[in-house]
Amino acid sequence: MKNDYRPVDALASPRFCGIKTFMRLPYVTDLTDVDAAIVGIPFDTATTYRTGARFGPAAIRDMSATIRPFNIDMNINSFEHMNVVDMGDMNIIPGYIEDTYKIIEDQCFKVLEAGAVPICLGGDHSVTLGELRAAAKKHGPLAFVHFDSHTDTVSSYFGKDYCHGTPFYHAIKEGLIDTKHSIQVGMRGNLYEPNGFQDSEDLGLEVITAKEMHKIGIEATAERIMKRVDGKKAFLTFDIDFVDPAYAPGTGTIEIGGFSSYETMELLCGVKDLDVKAFDLVEVAPMYDPAQITAFLAANIVHDFIAMVARKRAD
Ligand code: MN
Ligand code: MN
Repeated sequence: MKNDYRPVDALASPRFCGIKTFMRLPYVTDLTDVDAAIVGIPFDTATTYRTGARFGPAAIRDMSATIRPFNIDMNINSFEHMNVVDMGDMNIIPGYIEDTYKIIEDQCFKVLEAGAVPICLGGDHSVTLGELRAAAKKHGPLAFVHFDSHTDTVSSYFGKDYCHGTPFYHAIKEGLIDTKHSIQVGMRGNLYEPNGFQDSEDLGLEVITAKEMHKIGIEATAERIMKRVDGKKAFLTFDIDFVDPAYAPGTGTIEIGGFSSYETMELLCGVKDLDVKAFDLVEVAPMYDPAQITAFLAANIVHDFIAMVARKRAD
């Protein structure tokens, strides 16, 4: 393999120089020989509260410039094992979710067909349904691993099917997810109904609430995830509001009682051997992000996603 696509060497070019792609990877849209592709999906008109995640991809790219290529937690320099590129952003259509779903599905499918792993940057969480449609078309229903403070399994909002609170209800109804091997982690906050997270469980998902996770700890949570997925090919989606607003204030729908940035990195480390075929990181809204801490955390999480792909390629 020609290993051409890697970050600019920060020992030769200062990290604040250049045009901001993710980690200063090359901007490439031809996917020949590409193993993983970063793609922005700046769609945020399906939020139910605060918009702003359309600026998430740019904010994450901006802060990613400071990340050094050797990932200490994952014990790998991903870029020595594979080619990673930044494809730029999808040309979504603000306000037109069904047209946008088609765009997301087609573009993600192209990445998957080229043998690369898509790593999408949202955008609000509605975008994940388009990615799941592409992933299921390529791989069949995948094990679904979902980090969030919300289940996003409501059937409709305002009398409409699609918004950022409904994608996984539709994904399950469309048969895109292998529910027996799927799990939602970090759920908390007040609800519209007293039945807890029963809606998700009724749809066939396992749910680990934030309360339970705080009680059993990070290691046991990671073990529960690995056990549930049971070696199956997976789709990993990470809503940044999984993290406590003290560490990740820059998002549209914050919930108290979450997890620190350290606990988040430990949890990802604990699931590093998942066989993930597509990733996303959603809901970063930079106008609520003093000191760019949310975007910086998001960029580090995406760096871990890259390492998870590289660990599989290095096997
Ligand atoms: Mn979400
Ligand atoms: Mn959420």
